[in-house]
Order: sequence, then C-alpha cells, then structure tokens
Amino acid sequence: MEIEQVYTRLPYTPTKTQIRILDVIFRTHERCIYSLIEAANGVGKTTCLATAAALLAKQGVRTTIFCMTYKQISRVINELKKIDADIKAVVIGSHNALCCSDNSATPRTICRIKSLRFSCAYSRPSADYLPWLFDADELVRESRAKGVCAYEAAWQSVNNAQIILATQAYLLYDNSWKKISRFVDNTFLLVDECHNLIHSGVSVFSFTLDFESPICKRVLQKVMSRTRWSKRKLLEKLGDEESFLKNTEQEITALIDSKNNYLLWKIINEYSQIKLLWEANYERLFIRQKQCEGYLGYPEEYLNQRFRAFRGGVLVSATPGSIETYKRIVHDTPLYVEKLPAPYTKDQLKVFILNDFSTRYKERTPQNYIKVCERIFRLLGKTGNLGVYFPSYEYLNKIAATIAERYPTIPFIAHSASLVELNHYGNRVMLSVQGGREGEGSEIPGGLDMVLVVGLALPFPKSLLMAREKMYRGLGISNPEEPAYISWATQKAVQAIGRVIRGPNDKGIGILMDRRFEYRHVLKSLPSWFQSYIWRSADFEQLMRLLEV
Ligand code: SF4
Repeated sequence: MEIEQVYTRLPYTPTKTQIRILDVIFRTHERCIYSLIEAANGVGKTTCLATAAALLAKQGVRTTIFCMTYKQISRVINELKKIDADIKAVVIGSHNALCCSDNSATPRTICRIKSLRFSCAYSRPSADYLPWLFDADELVRESRAKGVCAYEAAWQSVNNAQIILATQAYLLYDNSWKKISRFVDNTFLLVDECHNLIHSGVSVFSFTLDFESPICKRVLQKVMSRTRWSKRKLLEKLGDEESFLKNTEQEITALIDSKNNYLLWKIINEYSQIKLLWEANYERLFIRQKQCEGYLGYPEEYLNQRFRAFRGGVLVSATPGSIETYKRIVHDTPLYVEKLPAPYTKDQLKVFILNDFSTRYKERTPQNYIKVCERIFRLLGKTGNLGVYFPSYEYLNKIAATIAERYPTIPFIAHSASLVELNHYGNRVMLSVQGGREGEGSEIPGGLDMVLVVGLALPFPKSLLMAREKMYRGLGISNPEEPAYISWATQKAVQAIGRVIRGPNDKGIGILMDRRFEYRHVLKSLPSWFQSYIWRSADFEQLMRLLEV
C-alpha cells in the first residue's frame, strides 16, 4: 500500500513522526522482516500500531498485537474503534482477567478445578455471540449481562479475528504460548513497549508467601527451608505434581459447601501460583522478603523460537534497550532499526544528572536516607507535583519510614504498596518504584511537573546477570553488560522521567540522582532521543541554583 493512500483513510492527521512509523510498519510487512522502532513517549506509537493493524486487516492481513497490560490493550482498542467500527478485533486473556463471576453465585475461576469445571453459573456463549472491539473490562461486562463466560467467548472467536490482542505474557510463558500459538501462526506481529519482553522474561514469576490453603502452606514450608533453589533440586524435594493436584482438588471440593466463594477463589489462585513451581520455565528460585521469585537467564532464546511463528513484525518502545538483545530474538531474520528524533523542544524537557550521590549498597546508610528526604522537600519548593522513583520497594519503605519519623505532621496516603502520596503546603509528592506500575503504564492522577529518579536500579539476581553478561561476551559483544542488564536499569529511569510529558504541550524536569548515570557505558545505553535532553551534570546545590533561573 502506498503511504499517501493511508492518510486519506484515517480519522486524524498523522504527524511527521507517525507517518514515518506507519511507513516502517508497512515496509516491514512487505519484506517479511522485523523492525525495531525507538520513539519517545507521547508521539502516538499506540495510535500507529492500531492504524497499521486496521489498514492491514483491510488487505486481508491478520495481525497479533502484544501489549504489556490490559490497560494498554484497552488504549489500542479505543484507537481501533475510531478507525474502523466494524473491525474484528478480539482481546484474549487469562481466566482471571476474563472471568465473569464476581464470587456471588460461584467462586471466580472455579472452572480451573477439573472436577468442578461445569459448576460455574455462567454458560458457554453461542456461536453467534461475537466479542469484537471490546476491551477486557467491556467484554466481561457485556458477557456477564448475557449470562455467558467472557473467557470462552474470546477464545472461541479468535480464529475468525482480523486482529488478535493479548498481553506479552502470552509470548513469554510456556503454557500461555501453547494456548495462543495455534491461532497466531503466520500473522504479522506488533509488540508495544517491547522493552518489557526481556525484564518479564527473566523474572518468570513472583508471588507473596501469604497463603490460606493448608496444602499450599505445606508445599511452601518445604520451599522456605532455603533461600535459593535450582528447579531440579526443588522438584526433587516437592515430589510429583500429580499428587499435589489431587490433594488440592480434594481440598477445594471439601470447601465448596461452605459457600465462602471469596476464600475459594483465593485458594484457587494459590494453587495456580504453586503449580508454577512445577510448570514454569525457570532456572533459579529465590525466597526473599516474603516473596518467592523464579528467574530464567536467557529469555532471548525461547523468544527466538516464538518469533519464528510470525511472518515478520514490528517492535516499538521509547526505551527499547540494546539492539543486541533484539538481534538474538529475531536471529536469522533481518532486523531493521529506526531511531526517531526527539519530539519535544529543549524547553519542554530538561534532564540533570546529580553526581554527588549513589544508591550502591554500601552507600545505603541512614544518613543517606535522611539526605534523600531533605532533598525531596527542597525540590518540592521548586515545583507543584513531584514524582520520586526509588530503585526498590525496600528503598521506598525506608524513605517512607524516615519521613514518618522526621516529619511526623506531614500526611501520608498509601495508594498501594508501590505508591505513597505526601502533601506539603499544597504541593504533592508521589513516592514510587522504578519499573513499578506507576513508573510506566499507569497515569499518575494530576500529572507530574518534576521527576526525581533515586539511584540506578540494577536488576536482581546478580548471579543470573553475570551469566547473561558472560553469554553476550561469548557472542563477541564489546559491551556485554549493556544487553545483559544495564539497559534495563536505564529504561526504568527514562520511563519514570517520561511521566512528566504525557501530551504535546507538557513541560517537565527530570533528575537522575546517581553518579553512575554519568558513566560512559550507562550514558550510551540511554535512548538517542533522550540523550539530547540531558542538560548537564551537577551536584545538588548547583542544581538548586540552576532551578532558580
Ligand atoms: S467458566 Fe468462565 S465465568 Fe465460569 S469460572 Fe470459568 S472463567 Fe469464570
């Protein structure tokens, strides 16, 4: 399709950047290759993906779009509705995401228990129920009103869909991929926020060790007898999965008469989490701070197998990270890389690096926590809404505790485990975690004028990161630490600073508070468009003077 033809069929006038993105997508499709597009936040990448998928559908091309969350999928669906209200786009998802039960008549997701599969109050949809162009919430609402299961409705329609939308979990996890792969074979692939593929692929699962089920508790006792496991050793200790499943079915069946549907749903969820210990593809399991986390070192390898199913595709992100990673993923298919120029003026975004601080472990002292708190309040004097992003939940909790102790009159609102709000003389501070929900994807109510990134958030666990570094070194990569882990840390920081600009007229300031951001290899791993907004490195007092101007 000629790109000029495309403009006339759109309900909006695309910008120069959007025209370029659309052009790359169509050329990529024609050549059956892969492309990676790096473009800043707010340029309309999601709109372009929806537009391209809709226009390709008109030519009979089926597309599969993977987003990180159902919320991001919902944005794509909204764009599709504006472009073509008749398009057959379906959102597929997990039992938990698409279950219609609200725990009143029967427990949510009861169908996951084999012997109780048919006890659900919702029936199967008839073949004429077509769930096109609903996001996950709309699909659940609509299906519930009709008395049918949204999960079944979505999966029974997927074969006839022109556009399939799913979360990236379906690309990453074995069981999810098994379920979706027969429908997406030979479709054109679009991945939004593709930088999440590697992070989520390395940390395969994570759940809190706070369970109700006696059977699960017994399994966890064994798991918690050590702080780290290889999968092989753990399975030797746990025994076979069959007897666990049999016991859990018996436990649920015995509880079903209690009619405590909320408890039953909670326990069903616990089973599905514990099952991951047998079924998920992980190498190492870590138990720390009441969390059980499974890790796999090299998701590039199995993503490579999965990408072979598609007839090419486009991956987009504001912070894609190292190109080497994507070369590994697409392997023997050509990869075209497009880095789009910075879309904002120099006045819209100013980024400073503070070179008098670090969150290295040896520098995580009570004095430094106090220093961070003092800096937060001094910066708040220069702005209305300040977002502060820490390297971990542990760091966030330390700062919240220090503020509570030193500034007892300042009111706190804990919105969630990863978002704490403070109000100070009419100004607002949102404390959050880099890479957490509020660092990317979710909008902060009221927006942010300034973002302070505290520390370079290097991922965990170190042993696997070192193994990844070794793997990339073995491939002859001159800076193996960049694809192995540095890019993830800088991606989280850039995504956090991206919170200050959500629309074309927004303005904001970003502060990277860790001297390691000045290191050459760290600076190099920042996206090209972002590098052009870095004003200068300074110490905190210099920064305060610069902010006066
Ligand atoms: S059949 Fe559907 S509505 Fe019923 S429990 Fe399963 S997912 Fe929920």
